[in-house]
Amino acid sequence: LRRIAMMTSGGDAPGMNAATRAVIRMAIEKGCEAYCIYEGYEGLVQGGSFIRKFEWDQVRGWLSEGGTLIGTARCMAFYERPGRLTAAKNMVLNGIDALIICGGDGSLTGADKFRAEWPSLIKELVDTKQLTAEQIEPFKHLNIVGLVGSIDNDMSGTDATIGCFSALGRICELVDYIEATASSHSRAFVIEVMGRHCGWLALMAGVATGADFVFIPEKPRAENWREEMCSIVAQARSMYISLHRKIGKRKTIVIVAEGAADQDGNKISPEMIKDLLADKDGLALDTRITTLGHVQRGGTACAYDRQLATLQGVEAVNAVLDATPETPTPFIAINENKITRKPLVQAVLDTKEVSKAIEAREFDRAMELRDTEFSD
Ligand code: ADP
Repeated sequence: LRRIAMMTSGGDAPGMNAATRAVIRMAIEKGCEAYCIYEGYEGLVQGGSFIRKFEWDQVRGWLSEGGTLIGTARCMAFYERPGRLTAAKNMVLNGIDALIICGGDGSLTGADKFRAEWPSLIKELVDTKQLTAEQIEPFKHLNIVGLVGSIDNDMSGTDATIGCFSALGRICELVDYIEATASSHSRAFVIEVMGRHCGWLALMAGVATGADFVFIPEKPRAENWREEMCSIVAQARSMYISLHRKIGKRKTIVIVAEGAADQDGNKISPEMIKDLLADKDGLALDTRITTLGHVQRGGTACAYDRQLATLQGVEAVNAVLDATPETPTPFIAINENKITRKPLVQAVLDTKEVSKAIEAREFDRAMELRDTEFSD
């Protein structure tokens, strides 16, 4: 009898509850016992009531709940071996030999490290007499499967992460709200969206709302971005079809990702953009800044994220049951609309490389690693 535990870790994302529901129910369906670990790795280190057995009906209604009901946390102890040793002990004491983790690249890095260390961790637990040889006998190998929960869509190797389409939908809805008031007063709005190393949310929101200009980390604007932006905004505002008939926009929307920077790596902040649009000697637009913040993360999951999390949760349990000690740790991806299993280590390494390449201003390399193309 297998005991499979589900955990959510790192930043929360809409759809995590759907993933938990799918894992719990699929595990039970396959004849396993299902557990939830509360508060991410913190719960694994703490043990006790943080590790709870789950039944079929306990996840009823979870598809439409936002956030993650089993909690998530950052856990400093898990970065260090003693923390992971305690976590291993708690797993064995609860009879859990497989872990499905839904989190970002940090959480999944920790997961793979835990699995790689597992044999030496349980050996140490016996050597230090915390557990007996009989107790660890059925736990020679740890099975880990990753699910990617992240609103940023920042993981290499998968087309979409659980939560990204909910956040995108939320952003578009909020931009629509802003547009109504912007248009009424003929104002400009600079809207800051999440994304430190990944401009997916900003770019897709820009396309979906018809924004005037978008700033993302992956593709810094040319040196003359100030002139370029002002000229595009001016053109959109002052379109004439005849001398007397103006069909230009009465609103200006500029979307900027948190991590946007110019070619030299200097941050392009919403304040800088606002000052430019409001400049009395330039466009002199009445300009406001709106930082969307955590509303992008909160709220319920959209239909896409619910079904993605459900299909991936099912596949995660299948991957656990198929795994052998030799199988490299997989994560569940989606590629060209198919749910796939991919090596976790490679995807985590690629994701970290992309961030490094962006910080080093090596944009072509970043895009190559992410297998993405941008045209002007
Ligand atoms: P995310 O999963 O959203 O990227 P973090 O990077 O904060 O979020 O990671 C969440 C948790 O995963 C951390 O608080 C820590 O407990 C664990 N973790 C992250 N990176 C590692 C690592 N390199 N080694 C061990 N544990 C890690």
